[in-house]
Formats: sequence, C-alpha cells, structure tokens
Amino acid sequence: MASVAFHVSGLTKVYRSGEVDVHALRGIELEILESEMLVLLGPSGSGKSTFLNILGGLDRPTHGSIIFRDHDLGAMNDRDLTLYRRDHVGFVFQFYNLIPGLTALENVALVTEIAARPMRPEDALAVVGLKDRMHHFPAQLSGGEQQRVAVARAVAKRPDILLCDEPTGALDSPTGITVLEAIEQINAELKTTAVIITHNASIANMGDRVVSFADGGIAQIAGHDKRLPASSLHW
Ligand code: ADP
Repeated sequence: MASVAFHVSGLTKVYRSGEVDVHALRGIELEILESEMLVLLGPSGSGKSTFLNILGGLDRPTHGSIIFRDHDLGAMNDRDLTLYRRDHVGFVFQFYNLIPGLTALENVALVTEIAARPMRPEDALAVVGLKDRMHHFPAQLSGGEQQRVAVARAVAKRPDILLCDEPTGALDSPTGITVLEAIEQINAELKTTAVIITHNASIANMGDRVVSFADGGIAQIAGHDKRLPASSLHW
C-alpha cells in the first residue's frame, strides 16, 4: 500500500470579489498518494487551479484541512509556507517564465543555487532530454523545449511534489507530448508525486487516477489499472 502524501478534508475556498462571494472549492475530500501521478480534469472555473495553489502553499483554504505528511498547511504562517514551497514543491505553469537573458543551464542553476539537496543543473536538463541544448537561450528553443527547461527547473531541487497547471496548454500535440514524457520520466525515476491540471481528456489517460472537478467539487475519481504512456497519447 502506498503511503499518503496529502490528506485533504472539507477543503473550502471562498474568494470575496467586490460584494459577491465566489465559492471556488466546496468541501474537497481527497487523499493523494506518494509517487502518484494524479490528473485533475474539469472545465474552466471548476476550481482546479485554486486546489493546486493550495496544495503548493501559494494560497490558503477558507475552511477545512490540508495535511502534507506531518505538515498542516492551513496552520502555517507565511514564512513556514515559503519554506514548505522551497523545500518540497516544484511548479510548472502554462507559460514557461524563463529568464530570456540566461541560458537553459543558467535558468535551472538559479534554482539549484538556493536548494538544500539539488541535482546538478546539467543532470536535470538531461532528464528532460535537453543536455545538448543547455547553452541555448530561451529564444533559441521551441515552445516545447522551453517548457522542458521549466520542468527541469522545477525538479532540479528534487521536490517531493511536482505541480503542473496546464503544462501543455500553449503547445501543439506533438510538442506537448514531449513535455508530458518529461513529467512521466521524473515521476518514474525520482518517484516525485505529480499533479497535473488539464482540460484535455486525452491527457487524463496518463494518470494513475483522474479527479474530475465540477463547480468547486469532485464529481468523480477514476482509477487506471494501466495508465497509458505519454508517447501513446494524441489530441
Ligand atoms: P479552474 O482552474 O478549474 O479554471 P479556478 O480555480 O481558477 O478554476 O477558479 C475557480 C473559481 O474561483 C472561478 O469562478 C474563478 O473565477 C474564481 N477565482 C479564482 N481565483 C480567484 C481570485 N483570486 N479572486 C476571485 N475569484 C477567483
């Protein structure tokens, strides 16, 4: 039995927007297992990003509890949340946010310089298949290659959790698949728990489990006995 990385119970998030309350999450109950590849599926506005941001310590719940191993994220002050993010979490967003004036290697090194037990930046780029492009600047790389640099940057500090918000949202299908293969490889080789947001049902097939969000709640959780390799996906 795999152990549990996150216990989430009664998780609620209400945003105050002017005079109206927006109920972004309505009592989420979920356990996320160590080393699991979890896909969050659902339409725009269903609460996926809010949930991911709370998992990553970028936002706080309004009610309910979220426990990572023995850390109660809801009880942490800002400093503790910063340390939690720094020590445990790697993020990949839809837009790569690389620094244009730095090479791929330098973009990754920026993170490893402040990490406790980092990989060598060269090794992180090798995992995502970019060893031979490491001295290139972002503008000299394709969108998919830039996103793979962003994945290398996220995992170079050896995070326990890799959180990806629409990592292929800006990419065409073949390019997006190279990014998903990089995430798959990291999950397999480093045993990093990976949570991937997508609204693309085809990508859901690469998850161990697929959590479908609807209107701030979980509509369905589907398990895959045999998840599909990213290389076999198409959309
Ligand atoms: P998804 O990722 O599934 O598209 P989100 O988590 O981004 O959904 O959003 C869920 C709901 O919360 C939406 O109605 C959205 O408009 C609202 N929301 C998200 N962030 C904020 C915020 N900072 N302030 C106010 N409302 C927000």
